[in-house]
Amino acid sequence: MAGEPQADCLFCKIVAGEVPAAVVRESATTVAFRDINPQAPTHVLVIPKVHHPDAASLAAAEPGIAADVLREAGQVALDEGITEHGYRIVFNIGAGAGQTVFHAHAHVLGGRGLQWPPG
Ligand code: 5GP
Ligand code: ZN
Repeated sequence: MAGEPQADCLFCKIVAGEVPAAVVRESATTVAFRDINPQAPTHVLVIPKVHHPDAASLAAAEPGIAADVLREAGQVALDEGITEHGYRIVFNIGAGAGQTVFHAHAHVLGGRGLQWPPG
């Protein structure tokens, strides 16, 4: 059922505490932790505790939790001190866009100059 934990999902395992992560923030509905392969000085992932395969599916099914993810991403940026110079919140959706973990997540990237358009 949509939203239920998936046994084979890495990020569901992080939510359950079965896989360790460097958690920087947690709310009732979200967890934020450092990306294991950072692409910028700040690279934090914000995920909903419920399982949905991507951010668009999450927003369609549970818009309030999608809003929680976005708000927490903004709070991570404030906590990390990257707001003054600008930062990016990225949702990769689909393998063709680089999505490799099919549990919705926001990337919060900052602390260096960011190119536009992204690759
Ligand atoms: P995607 O490519 O799906 O948009 O993003 C998935 C992200 O998860 C990647 O940036 C990747 O480095 C990160 N990642 C993959 N496995 C782990 C892990 O075990 N722990 C953490 N903290 N990040 C991971
Ligand atoms: Zn999951």
